[in-house]
Amino acid sequence: MNRRVFLAASFAIASTLLLRAEHLWVEAEAFAEKGGWVVDQQFMDEMGSPYLLAHGMGEPVADAETTLQLPAKGTYYIYVRTFNWTSPWHDGAGPGKFCLLVNGKKTTRNPLGANGKEWLWQEAGRVKADKGEVRLSLHDLTGFDGRVDAIYLTTDAADVPPQEANALTAMRRRMLGLQDEAPLKGKFDLVVCGAGTAGISAAASAARLGLNVALVNDRPVLGGNNSSEIRVHTSGRIGVGPYKKLGDLQKEFNPRRGGNAKPAEYYEDQRKLDFVTHEPRITLFLNYHVNRVDKADGKIRSVTAQHIETGEEMRLEAPLFCDCTGDGTVGYLAGADYRMGREAKSEFHESRAPDEADSYTLGASVMWYSVEEDKPSAFPEFEYGMRFTDASCERVKMGEWTWETGMTTDKTRHFERVRDYGMLVIYANWSYLKHHMPDSLGYRTRRLGWVAYISGKRESRRLMGDYILKQDDVTRYVLHEDGTAAMSWPMDLHYPDPRNTEYFPGQEFKTINKNTNIHPYPIPYRCLYSRNVDNLFMAGRCISTTHVTHGSIRVMRTTGMMGEVVGMAASLCKLHGVLPRAIYRSYFPELKQLMEQGVGKPDAEDNQKYNENYILPNPPELK
Ligand SMILES: Cc1cc2nc3c(=O)[nH]c(=O)nc-3n(C[C@H](O)[C@H](O)[C@H](O)COP(=O)(O)OP(=O)(O)OC[C@H]3O[C@@H](n4cnc5c(N)ncnc54)[C@H](O)[C@@H]3O)c2cc1C
Repeated sequence: MNRRVFLAASFAIASTLLLRAEHLWVEAEAFAEKGGWVVDQQFMDEMGSPYLLAHGMGEPVADAETTLQLPAKGTYYIYVRTFNWTSPWHDGAGPGKFCLLVNGKKTTRNPLGANGKEWLWQEAGRVKADKGEVRLSLHDLTGFDGRVDAIYLTTDAADVPPQEANALTAMRRRMLGLQDEAPLKGKFDLVVCGAGTAGISAAASAARLGLNVALVNDRPVLGGNNSSEIRVHTSGRIGVGPYKKLGDLQKEFNPRRGGNAKPAEYYEDQRKLDFVTHEPRITLFLNYHVNRVDKADGKIRSVTAQHIETGEEMRLEAPLFCDCTGDGTVGYLAGADYRMGREAKSEFHESRAPDEADSYTLGASVMWYSVEEDKPSAFPEFEYGMRFTDASCERVKMGEWTWETGMTTDKTRHFERVRDYGMLVIYANWSYLKHHMPDSLGYRTRRLGWVAYISGKRESRRLMGDYILKQDDVTRYVLHEDGTAAMSWPMDLHYPDPRNTEYFPGQEFKTINKNTNIHPYPIPYRCLYSRNVDNLFMAGRCISTTHVTHGSIRVMRTTGMMGEVVGMAASLCKLHGVLPRAIYRSYFPELKQLMEQGVGKPDAEDNQKYNENYILPNPPELK
C-alpha cells in the first residue's frame, strides 16, 4: 500500500446497529505513479499541502495512479479537494477539469476542478466496493492546470471533511499519523534552509571550513530561481570590492552560459547537484519544506521540515541556522523582525522611495517560450476573464522577466493567485495569437514549448539585522567597517509597464525597470544576521536592506557571495563558541582573513563572465 494512504476507523450509530465507519485519506502528491501530473509545493503554507497539478499547457497530461486497500466491503462516499483556479477572474466554470476513476471507472460526479472559488472538497460520488485493493486514477481532461490536494473516502454518508483551515489541518495531521514533535533526523553545526545560489554557497563555504552542514531545499533540484524549473540566469559580478576571491566558489557550480527562459540544459541542474554531493560535510535534504521552528532563549533549537511527496516530517538541530529561503520563512517562523513593502522616502531619505510607505514589492514571473514546428499545431480557445484585442495582445514568441505579476499582493499569503494570474495571461494571450489575431500566420506552426509552473519570486520579507542597508550608503559610497561581499548590480526597481496599464489598469502583468548604477559596494556584515533571533544568519534576497537597496543586492552572484561570507562567519562562531553578532564585535579581523582567502578552488575555470552589469568607475573617496 502507498505510504501516504491513511486509514482511520470510528463507530457510528445507525438505527439500532453499531456500525464501524471507515475513513481513508489519500494525499494526491503521494500517488505512486504521477503520470504527467507534477508536485507543486509552493503554496503549502497558505493552503495546507503540496498538491498534484496537471500542467500540460493545453494538452491533457497522462493519468496519475495509486492503489489503496479498502478495509471493508461497503459504499464509499468520495470527496476530492480542488477548486477552479480561474475563479478570481472569471465567473463561469474553469478550465482545470479532471475525473477521478476508481478501478478504471469514472466516479458519478464529473468533471471535477471546474468549480469553487477557493480550495474546497468536491463530492466525486460514491462507489460500492469489496474489501481489498482498489486503483485510483486522476484523469486530466484539459492540460490546463487542474489540481488535486487530497482525496477522502468514507463509508459514513454524514461524514463530510472540514473546510475550515484549522480543523482541516488537525484532521490531515491525524489521518496522516503525524506526531506533534517530528522525529530528530540529525544534529549539525549549521542548518541552511533553501538551496538557491545563496544557500548552496553558504553550505559549501561552511563545509569547506570544517562544519557539518545540513542543506534543506523544498524542490527536487537545486538553484532556486536559477534552476531549470524557473530559468533565471545569474547576474552581478564576482571578484569586485575589497575581497576579490569571494565568489570564486560559484565558478564551480553556476551555469556556464546565460539566458533567461532558455531550454532546461542551460541551467545545469546536475552540475549543482554534483557540486553539493561531492562536499563530504554537507548532508542534503531535497524535497523537504521547512515549516516549523522550535525556539528557546531567543535562539532556534531546531527546524521541522516536511517531505513534499511522502508527508514525512523530520527535525534538524543545530546551534546555528541560515535562512536562504528567499521568503525569510525561517526568520518569520522564529519571530524575527522583518519588513515587507516600500519604505517612505522620509524614513531613510531615499530619493528612489515613494513619498508614502506602501505594501508594493517587486513581482513574480512565470516565464515561457514557444517552439517552431514543421506543421500547424492547435491550442484550445482560452478565455477565462482576460480578453485580448489586436491592440492589447502581446505579439511575442516568449516571455521572460518583463512578464511580472503580483506587485501589490502579499506573496507570502496569496502567492497561488499571483502564480495563477501569471499562467492565465500567458494562455489567454497565446490563445488570442493562435485564434483571433488577423495576421496570426506566424503562430500557426508554433507550439507552447515551456511554461514554468514554479513561479520566480523577486521580493517578499526582508529580515532585519543590526544594520539596514539603504540607498545613500551605496550611492554616496558610505563605507562601513564591516563591509563584506560587494554588490554591483544597479538599483533595479520595477514598475507596471505604462502600455500594459493602458489596457489592464490594476491588473498589469508586464513591467519595466529603472536602474540607478552603483560602484561595487561591500555589504555590511550586520545585514547578514537577525537582530532579534540570536543564532540566525540570512543570505539571499531576504537580508537586511530597504526595498530600494534590495533592488541591487538580489542578483544571484551577489547572493552567492553573501552565502559564502555567512559560511565563513559560521565557522568562526563554532571555533570561538559564539553567536553571529560576536563576529562583528570581536572577531571581524578573522572574518576578513577568511574573506581574503575565499573558499573557491584556485584552479576553477573562469566561467562567470556573462551578464556582468555596468558598474560606475572609480569609487569616490571614502565618506
Ligand atoms: C524573473 C526574474 C528575473 C530575474 N533576473 C535576474 C537576473 O537576470 N540575474 C540575477 O542574478 N537575478 C535575477 N533575479 C533575482 C534573483 O533570481 C533572486 O533575487 C534570487 O534568486 C534570490 O536568491 P535566493 O537564494 O534568496 O532565493 P531563491 O533563488 O528563490 O532560492 C530559494 C530556495 O529556497 C527554497 N525554499 C524556499 N522556501 C523553503 C522552505 N520553507 N523550506 C525549504 N526550502 C525552501 C526554494 O525552493 C529555492 O530553492 C530575477 C528574479 C526573477 C523572478
